[in-house]
Amino acid sequence: MTDRLAELEASLQAVRARIAAACAAADRDPSEITLVAVTKTFPASDIMLLSQLGVTEIGENRDQEAAPKAAACAAAGLSVRWHFVGQLQVNKVASVVGYADMVHSVDRLRLAEALGRRARDAGRVIGCLVQVSLDDAGQPDGGGSAGRSGAGRGGAEPAEAGELAAAIAAHDSLRLAGVMGIAPLGQPARPAYARLRQIAETVRAAYPGAQVISAGMSGDMGEAIAEGATLVRIGTALLGGRPPLLR
Ligand SMILES: *Cc1c(COP(=O)(O)O)cnc(C)c1O
Repeated sequence: MTDRLAELEASLQAVRARIAAACAAADRDPSEITLVAVTKTFPASDIMLLSQLGVTEIGENRDQEAAPKAAACAAAGLSVRWHFVGQLQVNKVASVVGYADMVHSVDRLRLAEALGRRARDAGRVIGCLVQVSLDDAGQPDGGGSAGRSGAGRGGAEPAEAGELAAAIAAHDSLRLAGVMGIAPLGQPARPAYARLRQIAETVRAAYPGAQVISAGMSGDMGEAIAEGATLVRIGTALLGGRPPLLR
């Protein structure tokens, strides 16, 4: 066993233990939680090792990095599922639909339209999550688009979630899978994830197939699981630290 494989195996065990503890505290079954390993800034070789350890749901946030890694893994015969979790520009959509199985960051109508059209052209069906901004409008730097662009996390306003869900559901080439949110920096995560859970319930009421709540990262997976997350996106706790600014 290589050193890196042993390292990843140990961190995977620790992450699984944290998920199990959070599930026990919330009276949930760990089998309800999908673990997505966010491998941005780490090499494709780490993805190959993770797949040996049984982690086959892989998250990336930039097409420029994800596309070559997906190609390398496919060339190596690896069967993993790709989650695109970063803010997505329309001019990258054609590339992303070539490898992504799920896009977590659908936060505006124009992006939903582009995904629908490009996925159809590629003959693929892509899972989509409506990304909702969880910034608390009552907090400084929270709320409207200024706070959003400043923080760079993206996300539609909660009031727009229904319209976006409908736009995704209107495409045969897209599958409305649920919602995604990122807790605002410097604010308690749990109330933010509680708001996401409410939005998820509204979307599910209209679209029963939209069961995914993508919430929780290395620092706040417990809070997210307490508020109903079904998918956690874990980078640092699995793979180690990244250079600053590449969040
Ligand atoms: C990087 C990233 C993660 C993982 O963050 P960690 O704190 O390293 O676990 C999760 N979600 C998104 C959208 C990310 O960009």
